[in-house]
Amino acid sequence: MCASPPDDDAYYTEAMEALAVRGLRRGMRAIDSPAGLRVRVGGREVLCLCSNNYLDLANDPRIVRAVQDAVEAWGWGSGASRLVCGTMTPHQRLERRLAAFKGAEAALVFGSGYQANLAAIHAAAGEGDVVLLDKLDHASLIDAARSSGAAVRAFPHRDTERLRRILDRCGRYRRRLIVTDTVFSMDGDLADLPALVELKRRYDAALCIDEAHATGVLGPRGRGVAELAGVEADVDITIGTLSKALGGVGGFVCGSQAYVDYLVNTARPFIYTTAPPAAACAAAEAALDIVEAEPQRRVRLLELAATLRRSWRERGYDIGESESQIVPLRVGEAERAVRLANALLERGFLVPAIRPPTVPRGTARLRVSLSSACGPSDVESLVAAVDACFAAT
Ligand SMILES: *Cc1c(COP(=O)(O)O)cnc(C)c1O
Repeated sequence: MCASPPDDDAYYTEAMEALAVRGLRRGMRAIDSPAGLRVRVGGREVLCLCSNNYLDLANDPRIVRAVQDAVEAWGWGSGASRLVCGTMTPHQRLERRLAAFKGAEAALVFGSGYQANLAAIHAAAGEGDVVLLDKLDHASLIDAARSSGAAVRAFPHRDTERLRRILDRCGRYRRRLIVTDTVFSMDGDLADLPALVELKRRYDAALCIDEAHATGVLGPRGRGVAELAGVEADVDITIGTLSKALGGVGGFVCGSQAYVDYLVNTARPFIYTTAPPAAACAAAEAALDIVEAEPQRRVRLLELAATLRRSWRERGYDIGESESQIVPLRVGEAERAVRLANALLERGFLVPAIRPPTVPRGTARLRVSLSSACGPSDVESLVAAVDACFAAT
């Protein structure tokens, strides 16, 4: 038996009804096909403009093949936590590869980006320290900071002047850790890394960046916004995920050898969980091969995104400060965003309505994330469909 007590069920039901009234109730939509630009939903093929599969690698035949080979060689499960007996040579190979890719001394792989973020921040900040967060940092970073034991200060989104004033009053803390997304996941805008580097120097702080949406996409070699901004050597800790542009699953942390050794010995999201399958590591390595060999994927993706942003800005639509493959179209109220998303689905475009609490109240939006599998005609037809839906909704 696993039913909850009836009173609890009444509580859950009531809470869900309250969400529904405000247009905030969410459900999951099942896809009947592999991740890709065209997916089947409810028996229909639609254009999927909401995944993080930016380079169309989630179902790439070379990666699928690498996974099949790895499963043949290593089996599926890893058997234990990394420290017990779960580390296999593919884990270590991937870590050397990731460290080289990010230009860091060392790297450590985790089962997910969420776990990597918890581990990275808990190691770098605790009691007596302070974590400085951008207000729009990813939920995993906020959870990590809040549960770290450190004091937490949030600064207004990308407001480095306010951050400076907060840092002015943080001298009493033992360590100061500035934490930022590099591409913000709901807005597609970029952190001002050069300004953050300057502040970290001036205030003797450490800088931790989450390149989840940038890894494989931005920078001349796809290494991320730190590469794009030319500040890789000034970043203390880099977090990334294997599950977005790299098309697989898992997360990683890059930093100094001393820091990574410390993580191995202290990070609970590393120690108290089973190692990811060796095949997941093989998939990530195959994805890195493709990122390095096929820069045209990210070039095409960013060109298409620039075209979409230009079209929407010309129409006066509110897309904020997006500078990446993530392009939000702010419409205000949650109900309107949901109506527009439904109307777009009717026309064959899977574009999600993003509502509070994921984004601040009154800034509900349609959030488009493009993939390198899109062509110019896909972007044109999306722009036309959104125009039609705006006129009708
Ligand atoms: C998606 C995301 C994560 C979590 O990565 P997973 O591998 O999906 O757990 C962490 N940080 C940011 C900014 C993200 O967008």
